Parts: sequence; C-alpha cells; structure tokens
Amino acid sequence: MKFETRAIHVGEKPNLKEGGSGDVAMPIHLASTYARKEVDHPTGGYEYSRTDNPTRNALQMRLAALEGAKYGLAFASGLGAETTLFLSLVKTGDHVIAFDDLYGGTRRLFSRVFRERFGVEISYVDARVPEAVEKSIRKNTVLVWLETPTNPLLKLCDIRAISEIARRRDIPVVVDNTFMSPYFQQPLSLGADIVMHSTTKYLNGHSDSVGGALMLSNQAIYEKLKFTQNAAGAILSPFESYLILRGAKTLAVRMREHEKNALAIARFLESHKAVNKVIYPGLECHPQHDLAKKQMSGFGGMLSFELDADLKTAKRFVESLKYFAVAESLGGVESLIELPALMTHASVPPEERRKIGLNDGLIRISAGIEHLDDLREDLENAFKAIR
Ligand SMILES: *Cc1c(COP(=O)(O)O)cnc(C)c1O
Repeated sequence: MKFETRAIHVGEKPNLKEGGSGDVAMPIHLASTYARKEVDHPTGGYEYSRTDNPTRNALQMRLAALEGAKYGLAFASGLGAETTLFLSLVKTGDHVIAFDDLYGGTRRLFSRVFRERFGVEISYVDARVPEAVEKSIRKNTVLVWLETPTNPLLKLCDIRAISEIARRRDIPVVVDNTFMSPYFQQPLSLGADIVMHSTTKYLNGHSDSVGGALMLSNQAIYEKLKFTQNAAGAILSPFESYLILRGAKTLAVRMREHEKNALAIARFLESHKAVNKVIYPGLECHPQHDLAKKQMSGFGGMLSFELDADLKTAKRFVESLKYFAVAESLGGVESLIELPALMTHASVPPEERRKIGLNDGLIRISAGIEHLDDLREDLENAFKAIR
C-alpha cells in the first residue's frame, strides 16, 4: 500500500460486521473504563483507557504505518514522548549523545531535568560529522539522539552512517523526524531504531492540537515503552487522537504544498539584497544539499534567513507582516514566522547559541499552504517597511 493510501486507510477500517455501524471515520471513544461480561475477560481486550483506548490504538497503527514501523505509541506532547523514552531506556549514570543543535525544549528537558535532576550524562556533539559521534561514545553510552534537519539552523546529519556506528555497539539511535514528517524522511529505513514526532506539527497540520509519538519495530524496546506509556501515563486523549487521525489523511498533499511554497520563498529571499543568507536544504548553496537529496525525498517547509539588519529591525520586519503570524511552532497550514533568539530558543544560553551559529538576527519561517503570490507580496511589503 502506498503512503497516501496508508495515511487514509490504516487503522480506520469501517466495521461492516453484524451490529457494526460502518463509520468511515473512527469514532472518538471517550469512555474511561470498559464493562465486562466475565470478570476475568476484558471485553475486546480493553480494561482502562490509560492502558488502551480504541481511538488511540487506531492512531498508533496509522502512525506506525506511516514510518514503516511495526509499532506506534501516542503521547500527550512531543516532550511527553521524549520523557517516556528516557524513563524507559535511560537511568542515572548512563550517557546519552545528542546533536548540539536540538529543538530548544528537548535541550531544556535533557539538560535541566535528566542531567541536573537525574544524573544522566549528556554530550552535545556536532553530529554533522559522524566521527564526532563515534569519538564521544563511552562505555556507559545507552542512546544516540538525532534531529535532522535541526531547528532552526537546518543542519543535517547522516542517519545511515551514524546508525551503522551505533549498531556496532548495540546503542539505539533515536531520530526526531518532526521537521520532515514521514512523507519526506523515513529514518527506520536508514537504520535508526526509534522515530520520535511532535504530532503537534505536520502530522496534525492544523495548529489545533498538541501531541507526540514514537514509532519503532524492535519488539523488546516496544514492550518497555508500552509499559512506561501506561505506568507514567503521558497518554494522548481520545479527542486529540481523532484530530491527528484526521490531519494525517492529508499529510502527503500538504507536505507537497509546504515544500513548493518554502522553496519559492527561499529563492525569493535569496535574490533580495537586504538578506545576508538563506538556509534551506533544497537550495544548492546549502552545505549539505547532497546529503539532503540522498536521505530525504523532499526538502520540507521550514527555512531560516538572516536579514542584513540589527535585532530591532528584524523585529519590525516580522511584526509588519499580514499573513505570516508571529508565533512559535510550525507545520500548520498557516504560515508562521519567528525570531529564534527571542522566542523558540530563548531558553538556550546566549554563548551556546553563538557557538552553534544561531545569531540574534536569524528569522525562521514555517511556510504554510496559502497562495504563494499573497505570501510573496506580504514579504515584499515587510521589506519596504524596514527600508
Ligand atoms: C515541537 C517540537 C518538539 C516538542 O514537541 P511538543 O509537542 O511541543 O511537546 C520536539 N522536537 C521538535 C523538532 C519540535 O519541533
């Protein structure tokens, strides 16, 4: 079954059996508990909704199918998924290797919670160089955490090369695949062990739900994660599960439009004299454009650029836009724009930001699927406003 078909049909088969109602859309199962006829036999396998819920199960099957995985697990947020993963696979004294340019909230969770409060050792390395990952492996390394492309600098790492290095030492590799979505990048097929998503972004796609997910095929790891999903309880609600089931149906068509607009905006900005630099993996000038072509089937809807101006002017630029909402987050149908140094990455210490190349004047765009002419006109007006 092809991607577009899986995105619509897996997990949502109409029940045409005697007594079934044939709904073509999965009902929202709100019950917290399930009655049984016989004390020792839960009806249909369901006991309590934290443990298992039919709507969440449908979504979990769908999510697994989209990443080419055997198993999927849905959580109350992307960070809830990350926390569950750590609680399942990492303990005090263990060592984790992570890309040094991570989503700000992931970095805060790793440093301020797992390192400071639970004594987990974390090494942040420039994973653009696979050898840097190899060199930082220690005897107590239990996890390699990647995000590619990164946020907001759109640095890539070679999932296949790093997975081969980690596999030789039996260290699981996790890839945060939020930016590309399963439509443009399939980390498991490149050798990674676990894929993580903030479903808040492209998978839901409409900026009206917060959620997270883990997809994988290794049964032993799945059992641990499934146990913690129930034991720690950071589950996704039935209503949110329904929203993501619904959003995921149009993932392929949305991603194609996001990419088309992002590339056109990147080229437009590239040609503008008030712009110093445009960062988009689909541009030939991106230093890892070849790797992007090799490991992704598209370049996604996220881009960043540096205005030839100070922070105050950059603020004025984004504030004068009409269609681009000044907002954190990404991956919805509406275009968003933000200043990472003041918004999404404000929790990253300034010297760390400088070290990874995140300048104060950097502007990040999540290209929506509005008509390109309107978006371009909006940007042109903003350039006029700061002249
Ligand atoms: C948003 C995001 C997260 C965190 O997910 P939440 O749903 O906000 O908890 C993690 N990684 C990336 C790349 C993100 O964009």
